[in-house]
Amino acid sequence: MGIFKAKGAPAPWCSLVWKDLSPQRDKFLVWLVVKNFITTCDKVASWGGSGLFSCLFCPCSLETRDHLFGGCVVYKELYAGLLAKAFPRTPSDDWNIELQWASNDLKGKQLRNQAAKAIWRAMISTIWRERYSLKMEDPRRASRR
Ligand SMILES: [Zn+2]
Repeated sequence: MGIFKAKGAPAPWCSLVWKDLSPQRDKFLVWLVVKNFITTCDKVASWGGSGLFSCLFCPCSLETRDHLFGGCVVYKELYAGLLAKAFPRTPSDDWNIELQWASNDLKGKQLRNQAAKAIWRAMISTIWRERYSLKMEDPRRASRR
């Protein structure tokens, strides 16, 4: 199965990831996150890597895609600061529920939803870029194989 060519109906998250306003880099990164193609610490550990595998933002948690973009304190703080007024809810700890919420509740052409999608994509992108910056600052966290 090709990773760039969808077969059949588009995935429910397709419009969330690719449509409307956002820098292409944010859209591409969100696509990598949705497909779980990002290199999180749990993957590095499963490949036999060494180092610290905890989340850089909340060290008691293992860094996984599902944690970073669901249960992580940074995701919840960004949501509270950026989207909670327009979409009052408590974000789930489960990435799949967050993706389902965003795919369902942010769809449509209304400016409010287009802006919310762009903000949500920017949240994902910002978390990943900040995580990368912090990781590069701490040599103990550099992935070693
Ligand atoms: Zn965290």
